[in-house]
Amino acid sequence: MNVSIGHSSAASLSMTRGAVLHINATTPLRSKSKFPFLFSLSFSTTTSRATRATASMSYHKQLAAAKKAASVAARLCQKVQKALLQSDFQSKSDKSPVTVADYGSQAIVSFILEKELTSIPFSLVAEEDSGDLRKEESRETLHRITELVNDTFASDGTIGISPVSEEDVLKAIDTGKSEGGPHGQHWVLDPIDGTKGFLRGEQYAIALALLDEGKVVLGVLACPNLPLSSIARSNLSSSEDKAGCLFFAEVGAGTYMQSLDGSPPTKVHVSSNENPEEASFFESYEAAHSSHDLSGLIATKLGVKAPPVRIDSQAKYGALSRGDGAIYLRFPRRGYIEKIWDHAAGYIVVAEAGGVVNDAGGKPLDFSKGRYLDLDTGIVVTNPKLMPALLKAVQESISEKASSL
Ligand code: AMP
Ligand code: MG
Repeated sequence: MNVSIGHSSAASLSMTRGAVLHINATTPLRSKSKFPFLFSLSFSTTTSRATRATASMSYHKQLAAAKKAASVAARLCQKVQKALLQSDFQSKSDKSPVTVADYGSQAIVSFILEKELTSIPFSLVAEEDSGDLRKEESRETLHRITELVNDTFASDGTIGISPVSEEDVLKAIDTGKSEGGPHGQHWVLDPIDGTKGFLRGEQYAIALALLDEGKVVLGVLACPNLPLSSIARSNLSSSEDKAGCLFFAEVGAGTYMQSLDGSPPTKVHVSSNENPEEASFFESYEAAHSSHDLSGLIATKLGVKAPPVRIDSQAKYGALSRGDGAIYLRFPRRGYIEKIWDHAAGYIVVAEAGGVVNDAGGKPLDFSKGRYLDLDTGIVVTNPKLMPALLKAVQESISEKASSL
């Protein structure tokens, strides 16, 4: 694993940001109508508004809230997954555990962000809404979700949220209906990314990011089943490795990883490997989410020798950010439209660790278009040195496949 111990730099980081934080804590971007005078003082240069915002804002307070929200949501998910795996009677087709954990995770993130960031206008773009949960046949499910949310809050004395009602839970879930877009700040959440992995007892992630003026400015990935040490050579399903990682990144401040139970953070970097023969690559476990044939062709063309490492969820971005592998390839079937919550947190975790995330045509991802990503064919992720050769192999492989049809 390619990590360097970073607690001293983390400390100086928060100290050097202290002054900026003080100013911005009282002048959140969207409160400019409330504080027009202070806002114009803070942003009076001639550069573009988005650049000014992301360059001079500190998101320290939002990052702390996001880490807390994702970690607590992860606890609820872990509890549900544990019960699911222990249940002998669980039918393979029964999706109810993931439904309960999905809604519960989204409600928890919404409650915690709103509580921690009371002074900041709140907009959340998230995967779930309460439509189905409000139906008569979902009464039991809603009851179970509310119970789990309250149990999770009660088991941690630092959260300070008093018991919530079923109606509170429905409302919290529905804060996720925002459309996002190029202006203002929007949280972006996938409450359980990799539901198929969750049901199999394997990898999944709680993925939370913040957009400011259309740019991802912070991201947190809670990966409860990802080993703390590199998965490059370890067996992903081995129970011997200690698991539970929290990756977090803020624009301009690097990417860090700590254990979900709260070890000191270490700064992480993507692999610096320039030689494809020594690189390994990640892809979806589910062939329905990403063409294994096409990635195999690309890897062969590039000269990659190692077999693919197949993992569910944005845990792939986390593992790549610490150098467990050098490449992530994603090629959904034609016509599939990617959602911003499937990539926003992973994108900044990799970018701040020194990696590059592009579409198959080599363009950066654009998170400013609303709930969906508008991109060319697929997503490719690697370090800047390998990217040109990778994009060439991608383009050649796509043309080859198209002409063989
Ligand atoms: P992964 O775990 O990498 O396979 O990706 C999981 C995510 O893929 C889910 O959160 C879904 O939003 C997304 N997804 C669902 N269906 C598809 C599809 N047909 N192609 C690509 N991605 C999909
Ligand atoms: Mg997802």
